[in-house]
Amino acid sequence: MTSPVWHPYAHLKTQSPAPKVVGGEGPRFTLESGESLLDATCSWWCMIHGYRHPRLVKAIQRQADELCHVMLGGLTHEPADRLARELVRVTPEGLDHVFYSDSGSVGMEVAMKMAVQYHQLRGRPAKHRLLSLMKAYHGDTAGCMAVCDPEEGMHSLFSGYLPRHHFAPAPTAPFDAPPEAVEQDLAALRAVLERHHEEIAALLMEPLLQAAGGLNMTSPHYLQGARALCDEFDVLLVFDEVATGFGRTGKLFAADHAAVTPDIMVLSKGLTGGYLGHAATLATDRVHDAFIGDTPEHAFMHGPTFMGNPLACRVAMESLAVFEEEDYLGKIARLNGVLREELLDDPDLTAHPAVTDVRVLGATAVIETRSADILTGVGAWAREQGVWLRPIDRWLYTMPAYITDDADMRRITEVMKGWFR
Ligand SMILES: *Cc1c(COP(=O)(O)O)cnc(C)c1O
Repeated sequence: MTSPVWHPYAHLKTQSPAPKVVGGEGPRFTLESGESLLDATCSWWCMIHGYRHPRLVKAIQRQADELCHVMLGGLTHEPADRLARELVRVTPEGLDHVFYSDSGSVGMEVAMKMAVQYHQLRGRPAKHRLLSLMKAYHGDTAGCMAVCDPEEGMHSLFSGYLPRHHFAPAPTAPFDAPPEAVEQDLAALRAVLERHHEEIAALLMEPLLQAAGGLNMTSPHYLQGARALCDEFDVLLVFDEVATGFGRTGKLFAADHAAVTPDIMVLSKGLTGGYLGHAATLATDRVHDAFIGDTPEHAFMHGPTFMGNPLACRVAMESLAVFEEEDYLGKIARLNGVLREELLDDPDLTAHPAVTDVRVLGATAVIETRSADILTGVGAWAREQGVWLRPIDRWLYTMPAYITDDADMRRITEVMKGWFR
């Protein structure tokens, strides 16, 4: 009998049977067949320490022995409190309040709801729409689908069902562009704000790296310009750092490249090192303090059952401790060096007729191809060479675990390049 498990993003008629994973160690996971696969994606970008990290496993075991779960409504516990303090410490200056939830999508829903209610509480109820960017991906729940790229994104089928928001063009200036080069991108953003700011509560973006929408990398100057525009038009700035947070772009947070503090920031994926699902939505005093008041409308009416789960908070603290104690930013810089050398400096790849661009940022690299057909079969082919690759549409990418060593990193890039030979 085929399994009753319904797989995500799968075409049920053409999907091949999913191999069964029985364990993992470091950057590799193991299949029932005995095959061991080097994971180039670190499981949708969250398993930043790789599999079966002894400190993370131990943290969960210890916490399980004390307290697995308790509601956060009217109660608190040490792991929730300590993790919140740690997140306030490591995130950009001014993000001093932490609202927990259970996934990146819900963390973004919380951010959007917070932004709309913030303006409502300040007597600006007309500001109830959002401004997002083309190529954006913010999650799969309804509120999040409505702020994903409405054309190239994966949710266009639902357009009739979703609320309508505003979109600005995706930024085009690359990461290392000079300040003048982002002027056009910022002018496009300004144009939308000038026309619609009266109804815009917040500008949402995946800072520096629009991930699932095509690994579009942009400049820190764009973030600084966006910050200034938001201040000018009384619009909150929300950074969705679900993918970029915890080192992916080469600094702990993408915001750090630009020294910008957003009004709200969302973390998930790498937050727990991938070991449990959890998310945190951080806010500044400006946002938080608007909720201090006397009316029933001042309460923030949100509260996922599993928010602040003690196991998740405890493993998130351990993940951050390992990150800091073991110089992960140094490891990421080394991975970045290998990715540049192997991909950017390889003319056979960059000049290949099927390849339209090659980009590297932090521990992320992408080979953009002319069309998705070029990548048909690449996953199965890579598996034969012991590497787990899963392209997104026409983008063949890697976001490895940070503990991946140089030899394994080169193994991954070798297989990525091999497809084009
Ligand atoms: C993955 C992702 C989300 C959604 O997170 P889930 O935990 O899958 O709900 C939101 N935003 C970005 C930028 C992401 O990469």
